[in-house]
Amino acid sequence: MSDRYLAFANSGVGHWLTGALGLPQPVPLVRNPGRFVASARIVDVGEGRLTALLARDAAALGVRIDDAEGPNVPDALLVDATGCRTVTDSRALYRVFHDHLRAVQPNGRILICVGDPDDAPDVEAAAIARGMEGFLRSLAKEARRAIAANIILVPWNAMPTLASTLAFFLSARSAYVSGQAVRVGPAPEAKADRTSRTVLVTGAARGIGAATATSFARAGAHVVALDIPALSDELDAVAAAIGGSTLALDITAPDAPAHIAADAATRGGYDVVVHNAGITRDKTLARMDAQRWTSVMEVNLGAPMRITGALLDGGHLAAGSRIVGVASLSGIAGNVGQTNYALSKAGVIGWIERLAREVAARGITANAVAPGFIETQMTAAIPFAIREAGRRMNSMGQGGAPEDVAETIAWLADPASGGINGQVVRVCGQSLLGA
Ligand code: NAD
Repeated sequence: MSDRYLAFANSGVGHWLTGALGLPQPVPLVRNPGRFVASARIVDVGEGRLTALLARDAAALGVRIDDAEGPNVPDALLVDATGCRTVTDSRALYRVFHDHLRAVQPNGRILICVGDPDDAPDVEAAAIARGMEGFLRSLAKEARRAIAANIILVPWNAMPTLASTLAFFLSARSAYVSGQAVRVGPAPEAKADRTSRTVLVTGAARGIGAATATSFARAGAHVVALDIPALSDELDAVAAAIGGSTLALDITAPDAPAHIAADAATRGGYDVVVHNAGITRDKTLARMDAQRWTSVMEVNLGAPMRITGALLDGGHLAAGSRIVGVASLSGIAGNVGQTNYALSKAGVIGWIERLAREVAARGITANAVAPGFIETQMTAAIPFAIREAGRRMNSMGQGGAPEDVAETIAWLADPASGGINGQVVRVCGQSLLGA
């Protein structure tokens, strides 16, 4: 859907007028999925452990590493703050960002590696590590100019596997992910490559699901696109465009888990399952009929849990498989008229966090994305004023695209992302809601 304000604010007269009136001037996000940042500056905030790893993995992506003291304005700032563990150390943090923050290009990236507060060696290190999240959230808001800033939380006593995470954050794929802290640990050797995978995407006839199916197919996977029979034409069109297969069924049907498990069996199992199908049936609680309540709970939470159970019980998800749930900012911040939806989506978070612990022993990961305001048919149905507020109330000053969520899902499901488990990544341009 077109964002007329974004286009106007970036036209000649529009830029002048919005500037004169002190109105927001969002910078259009660059979204070419194949594009990596051209250059990065790596800065060590005192005795960090990851500087060499960051340099190696960034260089492997073709990113030029700039001299930290040089005159160039880099596209990305990679900050190794793993050595930052005392109040005194935090001064170095101040110094680094004070000196370098303005030296990042529009649409650039800031990525800070921090020791995980949960396994910090002492209380002061835990305090500073946790404090970094507050620092990041403020920094990401100050950065503006479509710069996305995020934290990678790494273990204190093990080297994380960062390649797929750097490939995501140093590319245009992460355009709408900002203000996030994601735990990344060591990953076992990836078994499958991206081109030999079979991926099930539910709700794939349109919106985020169609974009997700397209993203996986572009990387070489065979996609099984699932949606309700009523959208068979749209589903067929998506599958035809990407050379995928279709499953036209309602995920809440009693026989859906068995049906899906049977499909998985014919394909030698699924490597990735993306539980994207979802519905809203908004009404304030006092006015909500029971059908709205039940249908939202069943589609968004009941069915994904039952289907996953059937796939796991049937042995259709081998070691190295990935499960990705789609939650929502509504499940984090709450929303008037969405008690049913917020319960179901917060439920997805609870389910994924618990599931991640249960499947870890099998070498499977479970993670979730929590989209904010994404331009799809779901959000097109929102009244104009609320829709406009949803678009502007984030650090990017604009709505997300289905591709933004799709690419985040693809990163979490990457064969090399085995070190990421039980994480919930918001794709919301650092929405002010629930922050
Ligand atoms: P959408 O309505 O465009 O697409 C959802 C798809 O799910 C549709 O094709 C629909 O037919 C399918 N679906 C619904 N019920 C189904 C069922 N019982 N069986 C099989 N398929 C079913 O929505 P979207 O905006 O692309 O949303 C995709 C997911 O992202 C949903 O889970 C949604 O809750 C979540 N989400 C969206 C936003 C947003 O801003 N668009 C924000 C937060 C979360």
